[in-house]
Amino acid sequence: MTYRTDYHIHSWFSDGKAAPEDYIAPAIAAGLNEIGFSEHLVLFSESLDWSMNISDVQGYLTHIKNLKENTRDIIIRTGLEVDFFAGKAEEIQSYLSKMELDYIIGSVHYLGDESVDRGPEFYEGKNLDELFESYFDLVSAAAASGLYDIIAHCDLVRIYGFRPSFDPASLYRKLAINLKTHDVAFELNTNGRNRPLGDFYPDRRFLHIFWEENVPVCINSDAHMPSRVGQYFDEAYQLLRDAGYTEMAVFEKRNRHMVPL
Ligand SMILES: [Zn+2]
Ligand SMILES: [Zn+2]
Repeated sequence: MTYRTDYHIHSWFSDGKAAPEDYIAPAIAAGLNEIGFSEHLVLFSESLDWSMNISDVQGYLTHIKNLKENTRDIIIRTGLEVDFFAGKAEEIQSYLSKMELDYIIGSVHYLGDESVDRGPEFYEGKNLDELFESYFDLVSAAAASGLYDIIAHCDLVRIYGFRPSFDPASLYRKLAINLKTHDVAFELNTNGRNRPLGDFYPDRRFLHIFWEENVPVCINSDAHMPSRVGQYFDEAYQLLRDAGYTEMAVFEKRNRHMVPL
């Protein structure tokens, strides 16, 4: 069996439904070699019910450190999923630089003051072509910020099934070039299957573009409950192989190396 990692997991330190330790047995059962936690951290936004509070970050890091020390059968990694905000990279950097992490996942949930994944109302009355372009621009800015090792669900703006009027291949091409230029991996995120979209992020039609541009990839479940750890990974691995991929990225202490896929 190929080496398997799942670096995008939410426990109840952010908006997941269980304790970190509850994910260990399902991860082993799913055949994973590594499991990594990546709690939401949204700086610059107060009292969000889905993000970890700043005051809980140290407790989270200590909790995962203890879990690492007391777990034998699977490698545990410590990560965060940190929202990107244009113009705030330096502040985010100075906050994150104090932490010992295995990787940092960058994500764009907000366009302006609103989140793209909190309900389809966000899309009503908006110009979808502009919306897609703005979203991809912000994800590219996140990739270029130097803050992140992995970019999460890079086309989350598809979540409710809205589409631009044009062929978005050019958006994916531009993003892939940007990811490669700034040496950032992307993830094949299987959780979109559980959302209104009903499919993975990014759009499977464009995975070959990331391979052509030589962008490193991770396969992540974005699980918010233990039953979803490693979910749909057989299909995800096959999709990536079909797109041309033969290796994937693994992380330790913010160093990346590649293993066969
Ligand atoms: Zn996310
Ligand atoms: Zn997530």
